[in-house]
Amino acid sequence: MKIQVATIFPEMFAGLDIGILGKAKQKGLIDIEAVNIRDYTLDKHHKTDDTPFGGGAGMVMTPQPLHDTINALDPEHNAKRIYMSPRGKTLDQSMVESLAKENHLLLVCGSYEGIDERVIELDIDEEVSIGDYVLTGGELPAMVLINAVSRYVEGVLGSSESTSEESFSRGLLEYPQYTRPQIFMGLEVPKVLLSGNHKDIKEWRFEQQLKITKERRPDLYEKILPSLENKDKKRKPRK
Ligand code: SAM
Repeated sequence: MKIQVATIFPEMFAGLDIGILGKAKQKGLIDIEAVNIRDYTLDKHHKTDDTPFGGGAGMVMTPQPLHDTINALDPEHNAKRIYMSPRGKTLDQSMVESLAKENHLLLVCGSYEGIDERVIELDIDEEVSIGDYVLTGGELPAMVLINAVSRYVEGVLGSSESTSEESFSRGLLEYPQYTRPQIFMGLEVPKVLLSGNHKDIKEWRFEQQLKITKERRPDLYEKILPSLENKDKKRKPRK
């Protein structure tokens, strides 16, 4: 998968050279290119921002450098072009999975008060937010999206289990995980996990998923409830 990023801080993306993503890059499974919007400005002082028409606080990123960067990186508009923006649709696991099916993503990072609306109109396919809070720039949101999407690119994670068993994969949060030692600071691992009985372990984990999701994310629980009831009428989750 090819991921290009238009940013005024390309050096921040060196953070993606570490760990699982770093290895995936080395293996050529994902190709991440962060490009400096400043390289495309026609302004003699390399400016990429200006004061907002109509007044108001802060600066707005000017359209020319952004428009030229986007169209230099993706002249045929083959990429899915995403502007990272608090106004966008909130990134969730189903969006992550669908973005992972794309061959080419182009992520645009805003700064200051954001970008000139005409760039969104001319060049952007979708606006994506990483949550209901405001950050200083789109770089961390872009890295969050890249990290989440890359995990679904074949070969990036060691085992195919890794994405199918975790939180959100079936609309539920994950069950508690334990490893050695069996007793830590007086706290014991639940006996069922030591039983070797895979059916009981599976059942216990599923019960835990229901309990944790109901407690922490009643919104998710309510959503999944009808499908659970349909699937297994005998195992009716507690109301
Ligand atoms: N004035 C904008 C508003 O109120 O919606 C916020 C601009 S923010 C300070 C600067 C840039 O950070 C945005 O252009 C966007 O690219 C990025 N950004 C900030 N918060 C974000 C979020 N929650 N999700 C995605 N991008 C975000």
